[in-house]
Amino acid sequence: MIAQNIAGIRQRINAACVKIGRNPQQITLIAVSKGRSIEQIKEGLESGITDIGESRVQEAICKHTQLVTPKLLNSQILIWHMIGHLQTNKAKESVKIFDLIQSVDSLRLAAEIDAYASKINKIQDILVEVNASGDREKYGFSPEETRAVIKEIAEFKNLSIKGLMAIAPTEDNPQKTRLYFRILRELQGDINRRNALRSELTVLSMGMSDDFEVAIEEGATMLRLGRAIFEG
Ligand SMILES: *Cc1c(COP(=O)(O)O)cnc(C)c1O
Repeated sequence: MIAQNIAGIRQRINAACVKIGRNPQQITLIAVSKGRSIEQIKEGLESGITDIGESRVQEAICKHTQLVTPKLLNSQILIWHMIGHLQTNKAKESVKIFDLIQSVDSLRLAAEIDAYASKINKIQDILVEVNASGDREKYGFSPEETRAVIKEIAEFKNLSIKGLMAIAPTEDNPQKTRLYFRILRELQGDINRRNALRSELTVLSMGMSDDFEVAIEEGATMLRLGRAIFEG
């Protein structure tokens, strides 16, 4: 089932890319494996999944120890994404296992990640989380705050800001999420045009199971899919 789901998703990604003239190679499919078993994840890996997203550090550590044995994966490289809200006291554990921390939603968290990354001599790749809808229940900087705070985050020596991440509100019609994806893309363009940072923001992590085609049309470079991959 997982293999079939992934094949179907790849087809839909390709079709969405053809429609607007994008190269599907520019799009990274992240399998969101929170709450899924090691067996399910392995099925995903056999179908070509290279990137997994977890939202709880404890769960991720547990899976990491089980999956990061080269023998198990036939030396397949697995890229780990942290996509859930991160408490500052979990920053240290996160730096140890995650390749990309997508959910940087406060300056304090950025400082903690930087401090630990510095200790172990790692340049930690991060995304800045944007609360594009202004929903009070959601984490992330408002677009206005992002413009200001991103320069401060860029000052941290052991962080490398790759781009922006957003979680769109759940809508009955995926077209309604387009607005939020567009806000993220325009923010990225604006920050890059102003040349505010050492390096350009290239990553837009947006689009989930119900709205990834719209996200592709609006410029997503990373899709975070859970249900579409693991549920039938
Ligand atoms: C759970 C989760 C997803 C995946 O959601 P689906 O609707 O299952 O595709 C994506 N991003 C974040 C931040 C999540 O927490």
